[in-house]
Amino acid sequence: MLENGYIQIYTGDGKGKTTAALGLALRALGHGWKVLIIQFTKGDKGTTYGEIASSGRFADNLDVVQCGLDRVCYSHNTNIEDYKEAKRGWGIAKDAILSGKYGLIILDEINICLDLGMLKLEDVKQVLMNKPRNLEIVLTGRRAPQELVAMAHLVTEMQPVKHYFDIGVMARRGIEY
Ligand code: ATP
Ligand code: MG
Repeated sequence: MLENGYIQIYTGDGKGKTTAALGLALRALGHGWKVLIIQFTKGDKGTTYGEIASSGRFADNLDVVQCGLDRVCYSHNTNIEDYKEAKRGWGIAKDAILSGKYGLIILDEINICLDLGMLKLEDVKQVLMNKPRNLEIVLTGRRAPQELVAMAHLVTEMQPVKHYFDIGVMARRGIEY
């Protein structure tokens, strides 16, 4: 665990936000930290995410929780079940952040939930402000709210110089999930 943990944000439309966070998890695990990944909007509905499949290999040091139905993307096409899942994820995140148990917590796609109004920005800000000093927190997802960008210590915007999605290459197993 670190002496001083910071808040990081990976946002923007280019590929690499979730993979950057997963890379950090791998690195932290290598140093024996306890890591929690909460995947907002994602669930194993037909797809098995590689990170879920590999989480068992890290004994008790890596926890991955999915809190979504795999259908919320970047639109407002959400319903009550999606809100419930986001709220459940935030409940787990909040308890974990305040528990002092983890060295690194990744809130994957939480920016999307905030952007779509599925979670309250004030609640998230409040908890982040009161995070344990030694905890590093990573938030990912497009359209990070400006107030969180202002609060974070590191913000990287992935820029899509080229993305194969534009030539019809959909998410691939082992590369995108
Ligand atoms: P990765 O997990 O590969 O690091 P990411 O976290 O940076 O990606 P997300 O915003 O989470 O990116 O979205 C990833 C998914 O969105 C990919 O599976 C990709 O197929 C899909 N995608 C990419 N570009 C677009 C686009 N322009 N419109 C809609 N979907 C897209
Ligand atoms: Mg992502």
